[in-house]
Amino acid sequence: MNVLVINCGSSSLKFQLINAESEKVLAKGICERIGIDGSLTYQAADGEKIKTAKAMPTHTEAIQYVIDALTDTKTGVVKSLDEIGAVGHRLVHGGEKFASSVIITEEVKKAVEECNDLAPLHNPANLIGVNACEELMPGTTMVAVFDTAFHQTMPEKAYMYGLPYEYYEKYKVRRYGFHGTSHSFVSKRAAEIVGKPYDATKTIVCHLGNGASVCAVLNGKSVDTSMGMTPLEGLVMGTRSGDIDPAILEFLAKKENKDIEGLMKVLNKESGVQGVSGLSSDFRDLTNAAAEGNNRAQIALEVFSYRVAKYVGSYAAAMNGVDNIVFTAGIGENDDKVRAEVCSYLGYLGIEINEEANNTRGKEIELSTPDSKVRVFVIPTNEELAIARETLALVK
Ligand code: AMP
Repeated sequence: MNVLVINCGSSSLKFQLINAESEKVLAKGICERIGIDGSLTYQAADGEKIKTAKAMPTHTEAIQYVIDALTDTKTGVVKSLDEIGAVGHRLVHGGEKFASSVIITEEVKKAVEECNDLAPLHNPANLIGVNACEELMPGTTMVAVFDTAFHQTMPEKAYMYGLPYEYYEKYKVRRYGFHGTSHSFVSKRAAEIVGKPYDATKTIVCHLGNGASVCAVLNGKSVDTSMGMTPLEGLVMGTRSGDIDPAILEFLAKKENKDIEGLMKVLNKESGVQGVSGLSSDFRDLTNAAAEGNNRAQIALEVFSYRVAKYVGSYAAAMNGVDNIVFTAGIGENDDKVRAEVCSYLGYLGIEINEEANNTRGKEIELSTPDSKVRVFVIPTNEELAIARETLALVK
């Protein structure tokens, strides 16, 4: 069965058409600047990347162009919509309502809407994508795959904040975690590689991309993760601050004369390695600058890796040990220096890294030596494939 995977944002929409049995990507692309002017970038498997300007006042036109491209007689990969068996949608926040993927019904959409407060930038945009697909592909099963669902197994002690309990009761203020599809995908793969049952392994996943989080996966279940009620908590990220002393907000509000909106913009968009370096949120730029002697780029890189290592240490404590550590996402898959720096803090776990193996990019590889007490891997994440798998499992 072919599954159309949709990741819909407020002004962009990424898609992949995947044959869920062979797991081959038949075509992929992105619609950008929806509601502004609009463009479609489309690439069929083995075909060239084609970017075309297209007027896209709403997501409905965007999806229509995607369907047109997929069924086009020249560049298309299917003859008609009948060859698309289901659509898998990435939804960001399922709150406490969704602990797994579900087939989308009117009831499900209502429940997702009820979580909008928890992800005001993402959930409404995700739902727009669902509605547009329903309009243009009536009768095709739609599946929702949530970023938060994998972490619903976290125990209370991991998800409760040290805040008055009434805020949890009234508003569901608690830790949820994100990147669940990725953490689940790569931790499962790690168990496969080491040849142990998923439900008998202790794995720590470092999903290090522009957004970054660490997850403790104990016996196949997420028991803790570094992002919280929102993706702002935890690691120092590309432009997000991660954990800070909450009292800094009051201090800066007074010093910089900023309101809460202004401060949230600083924490989400102007902080992280971008804020520390004053240079870039991209690790390639930072590494190059540091090599040329840029001190702030060097500090930003050190702050980043140190925070990752601290989370890994705390999750090894939370699980009373760790069998596998996995690096994934843009930085985790490509940046050997960050991986080496993080692992340099982990000698106490008996970790030994093979430098030659670490000197590779973007492919699945074991970094640890045969003597290492913990096995360390790079496993490229594939959230689209994970969504296609979940979709197939529900539709079958
Ligand atoms: P993601 O959010 O997973 O797409 O990751 C994007 C980030 O990965 C970029 O902002 C870069 O910081 C980082 N990245 C991508 N490619 C490389 C590379 N070759 N070397 C180092 N960092 C990279």
